[in-house]
Amino acid sequence: MPQKYIVVLGLLLSGLGKGAVTSSIIKMLDFYDVKALPVKFDGYLNYDCGTMNPYRHGEVFVLDDKSEVDMDFGLYERFLNKNLTGDLSITGGKLFSKLINKERSGGFLGEDVQIIPHLTNEIIDNIESVYKKKSPDVLVIEVGGTVGDIENSYFIESMRQFATTHDVTFVCLTYVPALDVVGEQKTKPTQIGLRQLLQAGISPNVVICRSSAPLEKKARDKIALFSNLGAERVIDDSDDYTIYHLPQHFIEQGLDKVLLKDLRFDNKLNKQKLNEWATITKKIKEPKESVRIGIVGKYTGLKDSYASLREALIHSGAFNNARVNIEWIESTSLEDKNYPSRLKNLNGIIVPGGFGKRGTEGMINAIRYAREEKVPFLGLCLGMQMMTVEYARNVCGMKNANSSEMDPKTKYKVIDIIEWQKGIKKKGGTMRLGAYECILAKDTKSNTAYSSGRISERHRHRYEFNNKYRKAMEDAGLVIAGINRKDNLVEFIEWKESFGIGTQAHPELKSRLENPAPLFTAFIKAAHARSADK
Ligand code: GLN
Repeated sequence: MPQKYIVVLGLLLSGLGKGAVTSSIIKMLDFYDVKALPVKFDGYLNYDCGTMNPYRHGEVFVLDDKSEVDMDFGLYERFLNKNLTGDLSITGGKLFSKLINKERSGGFLGEDVQIIPHLTNEIIDNIESVYKKKSPDVLVIEVGGTVGDIENSYFIESMRQFATTHDVTFVCLTYVPALDVVGEQKTKPTQIGLRQLLQAGISPNVVICRSSAPLEKKARDKIALFSNLGAERVIDDSDDYTIYHLPQHFIEQGLDKVLLKDLRFDNKLNKQKLNEWATITKKIKEPKESVRIGIVGKYTGLKDSYASLREALIHSGAFNNARVNIEWIESTSLEDKNYPSRLKNLNGIIVPGGFGKRGTEGMINAIRYAREEKVPFLGLCLGMQMMTVEYARNVCGMKNANSSEMDPKTKYKVIDIIEWQKGIKKKGGTMRLGAYECILAKDTKSNTAYSSGRISERHRHRYEFNNKYRKAMEDAGLVIAGINRKDNLVEFIEWKESFGIGTQAHPELKSRLENPAPLFTAFIKAAHARSADK
């Protein structure tokens, strides 16, 4: 079988949803039992996302294999319902560091090392080695940024070269603005973008158009003309009720046929797969019920910091036939006495992950409210740590108990740095990362939620529950529901009296539309029961 590739490029501006397009193309091919895998290129010179600020760059996504990758990997996994690996993530940082290491070890003796051909060859070798290792039917390469950026120019050049010797279909995503909702759609920006692409030596095979209203025929025809394509290769990607509808929307326009033809596959549509997907997306469109969930976090100003959490709520909402209305509550706003009034109408509260002291007292207030008022509660990573602190302070009477991350001088370090983390000075890839197994005790809410006593979830943290206080907390009523036996770490805690679960893990990272995170489905069920009570 010859190797087959799709390269997804963006024109004009970022943030158009290239990740959703890439995921939808792969999903669409999966409906034909064509095994496609994503590769993502990011032009930044960081080695990976681990050292980036979630408040600027969005969530750092973590894979089972401990890789800290771009949040687009979250999209891929949520669409594909597959665990991916870190070697599918190529960054400018990884490429340059490999190249320079090679140069230092004499790999190019006598030569002057250049972007072309050395770096471009490195990229091609990298792509081919991923293909050989994973042996998919198609590799779908998403190029971060837009055509014309300096950061990705060498990567795009390598794709141009690659296409001269390989089977490559180029898909490009563009933006078609209209001056107001009823105004005419303007194709001039796309014309300019296409010219830039052609200048780079690449002719698109498909152009996908982001717009607020459905793509007009006139606009479609004009874009087809400027990209040397038939109108059937200019595809609408206008605002929809959910990104998960995109694979179906592409199929409705015949993009499946176009790509299968270009890639020379004669596979038949697997109707069952498509129908199963359509059943779930319909639940998102027409939910029977709704619940109101408050997310009390410290990065609520940038919703992408909580991308996986937001999606896990969509998945578990669909599973429970309920629309989840999210109320984003900046935790610093809960630090005065009036905080209960801000939490009153919620059917459930989540305190998600985070780093540093700012906002943690507000989180603790929200947790206290949830416990005392029996509002269903989920604490994720930092949320579980603050749940521990709240219990220590307000139930066990440990005054000013805290995590040593927030207050290194506290008398009660109920959350403390993991022993082996103490000596680590290097940054990036050094936290407790990736998938860890956990044993859930019988007769706990967590065990019931997972319908299993042995689970695996992903982690990204440095601090942990301090076992020194375990007995005191248990004696006071806190349930220690889950333990990592190998390292003797507390991974799940619970309240006895109401639905309140805290986990040191990030179960939201493994939630998929077809396989929602069990902890979230149980939480939404409890929140829904509470909304019915009221
Ligand atoms: N800051 C905490 C720690 O490092 C929690 C991390 C998180 O929420 N991901 O342990």
